[in-house]
Amino acid sequence: MLEIPHRTDTCRQFKADGGMVAAVLPIHYPRSLLRAFHILPVEVWGPPKVDVSYGGAHLQPYVCSIVHNALSFLKAGGLDETDILLVPHTCDSLQGLGSILIDFVRPRQPVFPIYLPRGRRPEDVDFLAEEFRALYENLARVTGRRPTEDALWAAIRREEAADQALANLYRHRRALGLGNRDFYRLVRSREFLPAETFTDLARAALAQRQADPPRTDRVPVILSGIVPEPMDVLDAIEEMDGEVVADDLACCGRRLYPQGRSEDPLRYMAERILFGPPDVTRGTPIEDRAAHLLRLAEDTGARGVIFYDVKFCEPELFDLPDLRRRLKDAGLPSVNIEVDIGDPLPHQTITRIGAFLEVIE
Ligand code: SF4
Repeated sequence: MLEIPHRTDTCRQFKADGGMVAAVLPIHYPRSLLRAFHILPVEVWGPPKVDVSYGGAHLQPYVCSIVHNALSFLKAGGLDETDILLVPHTCDSLQGLGSILIDFVRPRQPVFPIYLPRGRRPEDVDFLAEEFRALYENLARVTGRRPTEDALWAAIRREEAADQALANLYRHRRALGLGNRDFYRLVRSREFLPAETFTDLARAALAQRQADPPRTDRVPVILSGIVPEPMDVLDAIEEMDGEVVADDLACCGRRLYPQGRSEDPLRYMAERILFGPPDVTRGTPIEDRAAHLLRLAEDTGARGVIFYDVKFCEPELFDLPDLRRRLKDAGLPSVNIEVDIGDPLPHQTITRIGAFLEVIE
């Protein structure tokens, strides 16, 4: 079994080497830009186990648990060792969190928002590149550094190598011989490991893959949603003889970024994000999302989709009725489950997943 470095140790080591750490809220942001400033991005998807009463003082109860938990974690001191907070405007809830942080909570760390365009037109790329230029200036002020164009390209190449390794993990996931949970523990270490460390780890896993993986009788499914938390869902699927063979998760498969095309490093970073896999939070039309899921099912043999959504996640919920109808019409069944990332996996959820697996077996 691969030894994945611990998140806290990774941050401490990076800071001991003279770097800074940025806590980054979901979903899309320019990792390479931060690394060019010797800043390690460490992502905050909740986390699941926090006392949410801290965040409850500022947020309505119908705001999702990712935002509730993140604010609570911050206020409880969980992000005290970070130097910067980066808040992409992924959705209304995160946009609201950015405003609350800047106007009311005023944490010790500087808070930098990023506005993401909801399209892929040339003007969307221009807009996002300008956002990254503004972020460059903010980071320059905080760090006292001004990375050269060469340094930006070096950081881009390092992240691309890590993304290539990530794509290879997905391509060979069956041959890796990892169960659902161990595969996602490995994939999700991309959320906090430096790109080069993740690349080494992924290559070590790939080096151990089986040449001829045995066939299994498990029911192949796609997992869609924001984040597989609580991660017990991955064990539950396995215990009920299911196997996640592909995903459309915001923290994982929706960030298999392609290469860019521009000769300007900041535009290149923008292109990588905007031309990534379909994602509702980047404004992908429903028909494109449906086509993507159908293609994933065809490529992997998945017999159904489990939409595993965070409760009150508006972007996901808006798409769901139409998206599921299109999949059903195309012969791909699905089930929708909503969870609070801080709650234990409800028994009722396990039963529904079990029933779904039986139906599509
Ligand atoms: S779970 Fe949904 S609503 Fe919550 S932060 Fe993520 S995208 Fe926004």
